[in-house]
Amino acid sequence: MFDKILIANRGEIALRILRACKEMGIATVAVHSLVDRNLKHVRLADESVCIGPNPSPQSYLNVPAIISAMEITDAVAVHPGYGFLAENADFAEQVQKSGFTFIGPTADVIRLMGDKVSAIAAMKKAGVPTVPGSDGPLPDSREGCLEIARKVGYPVIIKAASGGGGRGMRVVEREADLVNAIAITKSEAQAAFGDATVYMEKFLQNPRHVEIQVMSDGQGNAVHLGDRDCSLQRRHQKVLEEAPAPGIPDAVRRGVQEACVQACIEIGYRGAGTFEFLYEDQNFYFIEMNTRIQVEHPVTEMVTGIDLIKEQIRVCAGEKLSLTQEDIVIRGHAFECRINAEDPRTFFPCPGTVNNFHMPGGFGVRVDSHLYSGYSVPPNYDSMIAKVITHGEDRDTALARMRVALSELVVDGIKTNIPLQEELVRDEAFARGGVNIHYLEKKLGL
Ligand code: ADP
Repeated sequence: MFDKILIANRGEIALRILRACKEMGIATVAVHSLVDRNLKHVRLADESVCIGPNPSPQSYLNVPAIISAMEITDAVAVHPGYGFLAENADFAEQVQKSGFTFIGPTADVIRLMGDKVSAIAAMKKAGVPTVPGSDGPLPDSREGCLEIARKVGYPVIIKAASGGGGRGMRVVEREADLVNAIAITKSEAQAAFGDATVYMEKFLQNPRHVEIQVMSDGQGNAVHLGDRDCSLQRRHQKVLEEAPAPGIPDAVRRGVQEACVQACIEIGYRGAGTFEFLYEDQNFYFIEMNTRIQVEHPVTEMVTGIDLIKEQIRVCAGEKLSLTQEDIVIRGHAFECRINAEDPRTFFPCPGTVNNFHMPGGFGVRVDSHLYSGYSVPPNYDSMIAKVITHGEDRDTALARMRVALSELVVDGIKTNIPLQEELVRDEAFARGGVNIHYLEKKLGL
């Protein structure tokens, strides 16, 4: 096992990783920007290193500074968390070349799955269902593109192979608009990602977002840990998640879960990963893989009883996966509400000092947060300040528990989206289960 891990992240996920390391008896190094010197995990880590000024390009994305911090502290591995460098293949490669371990897949696998065209091709090969589309980059010829779109059927969506974060996509309703839309998406993709490659998919009208959690050791062993529904989104940002995804027939679910496990084995995947799908009319359509731990991983932990961060560390340390598929039993239901420092109506970020912070508690309630009374939320980073997670023996119990938990939560001094979350957990359609990805924006009148 690793002697010492450097945590290349901040906020709640850095604290989450720190706790797992401490339980495993692994020494920890926190790295932080100037403004983050009072973060909770920085105070609790065995060592800490300031790696630069507040803007993330100069600190949390500063690869030479992070590698140097590993060298001076004798850390042997780096946990990237999510966001920042977590899916940066060049960083993973640098870490490997410097003789350290990246807690995640190898650089080659990150690269393979980071390019959506190659990811989709790899998934098809492994038998994972994908969205009908161009099966590769769009050709240069106008006629070729028109022909593909006719076969796929309108509406279609043009997507950048290197796209991410909901950018680099354009929906086309009719043939007259196709050629122009492809040209615009290509030039935008070139400007934003340095890669003009685009591909085409059928545009699904009312899908849900359902994803499958996997864990794999890169040595031929892989398991899935069930699914999550993350359909409540605003501008492609998830707001409230749950596990398992409600109302999916077992046979449909089982087929796609097994295909994901097979895909992990075929691509030599190591670590925790998520296969993201659109789900419509009892069909799963793969859209992308996230090659890292995700924000919403706790809902899976609550229903499986498995610590995903610890498992991730173990397999990345070279241990064989100790879990078998039979070990993984889904018990009950879990929800996660993301609490953001933002105006609940305008969604504008609201940094500032938290005068008072009171966490909810009780049976089946978990709060992952780096907040404390007197903590000042800086304006420089993501606005998420806490995750409230509840678990219950069934969906209704977990949801009732979330209503109580949110009513106890106090974040005093800054604006938060708690009022929005309180409304969502009382929403009738959401309570029935299975709303689609447009539901939240429609409800908000966007
Ligand atoms: P990104 O990497 O930018 O998040 P994704 O491929 O995951 O891009 O797509 C982001 C979102 O765009 C999806 O969650 C969905 O809302 C929408 N989307 C993407 N592809 C399709 C599609 N074929 N049909 C309908 N909606 C889509």
